[in-house]
Amino acid sequence: MANEPDSVDPSHALFERFVQAQTCKETQQNFNELCRHLEVEPRDYKHFYSKLKDRLNYWKAKDLWQKIDKRAAHLDYEQGQACHQNKCLVLGAGPCGLRTAIELALLGARVVVLEKRASFTRNNILHLWLYTIRDLLNLGAKKFYGRFCSGSIHHISIRQLQLILLKLALILGVEVHTGVTFEGLREPSGSTGWRAQVSPASHTAAAFEFDVFISAGGGRYVPDGFKIKELRGKLAIGITANFVNRHTKQEAQVQEISGVARIYNQKFFQALQTEIGVDLENIVYYKDDTHYFVMTAKKGSLLKKGVIKQDFSDVNQLLAPANVNQEALQKYAYDAADFSTDHMLPDLEFAKNHAGHPDVAMFDFTCMHRAENASLVKERKGKRLLIALVGDSLVEPFWPLGTGIARGFLAAFDTAWMVRSWGKGVPPLEVLAGRESVYQLLSQTTPENTSKNYAAYSIDPSTRYPNANLSLMKPMQVKHTVLDAHLH
Ligand code: FAD
Repeated sequence: MANEPDSVDPSHALFERFVQAQTCKETQQNFNELCRHLEVEPRDYKHFYSKLKDRLNYWKAKDLWQKIDKRAAHLDYEQGQACHQNKCLVLGAGPCGLRTAIELALLGARVVVLEKRASFTRNNILHLWLYTIRDLLNLGAKKFYGRFCSGSIHHISIRQLQLILLKLALILGVEVHTGVTFEGLREPSGSTGWRAQVSPASHTAAAFEFDVFISAGGGRYVPDGFKIKELRGKLAIGITANFVNRHTKQEAQVQEISGVARIYNQKFFQALQTEIGVDLENIVYYKDDTHYFVMTAKKGSLLKKGVIKQDFSDVNQLLAPANVNQEALQKYAYDAADFSTDHMLPDLEFAKNHAGHPDVAMFDFTCMHRAENASLVKERKGKRLLIALVGDSLVEPFWPLGTGIARGFLAAFDTAWMVRSWGKGVPPLEVLAGRESVYQLLSQTTPENTSKNYAAYSIDPSTRYPNANLSLMKPMQVKHTVLDAHLH
């Protein structure tokens, strides 16, 4: 019955605690408790969501069920039958790994996610394209995080985004193991199929056999068989800094900066340099869980301010921890943040990073990496494995363009579409040709050349890339991505 007090049924309070949980651990604990209380078994992934829905008769949960049901009812998923025989391992519970896991679960696959970190601690705030906001709202993001995209600029911290997606993944029966590192693939032997080598080695995930492997580890890790292309630009040094947001009135009044590039505001950057000796190419300021600043700094001013101790032409040597003065870096970031917000943010105090240190970091984005192929197939002892890259490990984003999540989610959907073909028994070369055709488009995607009909977005690429040739690549052209001669 509507508006019953929460105390009537303990499962309502448990559900609330799960929905509102603010850490990865709390989310998992509350979820397990809720499952125990309702006597629903998460490992029963095929029926888990419908049982949870049936047993949790709570008006506040119904809103969420409606949203999930609407997505799940899409014809693409064939009522969870499209991939009902597939077993998928996802490496990485970053935003792109989790977003992919959700789609694979909706297709009916059994999905296991491995995440090496035990907690979600990344404060950095990501700017989102409109379609990703629509996508997350359609999945009920506001139920999990009420402040989602309520400001003037659309953004969310990586941590909050991971929490939303983790909760959705759990509701859909995805098994998420944190504190477990993927170490490599184990080839089939005897009657056993493809498995993962994990650490700790005794973890139950080591016994999981799968026919689909999604590599979403971020950074530059790609499994054997993939080649990486490097695009080298001019030296680019980024700095991120997060400060505590106390959510006071005064803080609320300070204007965000959605990306001031030097060419558009010469006067500002000139003043920054002459008044405080900080020389930047651009700066962004977003207000969310934290006050987040990201900027591109010029090497000369970093040397002058003693942030970088010694000049080297090799960027790895230049930014090696031993060559960086952390205190000077903090001061540099602090001054830039204070100046660019007109000294209006009171008592700027660094938020803490995963190690409990002031959350300020310097990184190089001179080189951008991109995988040559998005997918490949391996076959050993008659057991086929479809392998796909998603997220940063597929295409490293250029942060000033804010393409990480946008292109990451597009690739997650495209990958789910490929797994759907795989599940439906399409021959491997055709599956790969389809995926690689779509992958050709990814690096060119912009908010302008992707479809504006966000409501129609699905895992089917034709709903998102208008006028694109989705069968550009022919099976013959992807032969090299099938790593077993007799499949050719
Ligand atoms: P990640 O978020 O890196 O997640 C990968 C996960 O895999 C991690 O949790 C990691 O612990 C785990 N993992 C790695 N190896 C293993 C292993 N062996 N076993 C188990 N787990 C493993 N994007 C935007 O869209 N908008 C922005 O405004 C924006 N700004 C940015 C600003 C900066 C300064 C930077 C650096 C990036 C920015 N990005 C932005 C990019 C964005 O952060 C990434 O695109 C996004 O986080 C990628 O998600 P992912 O899931 O691919 O990888």
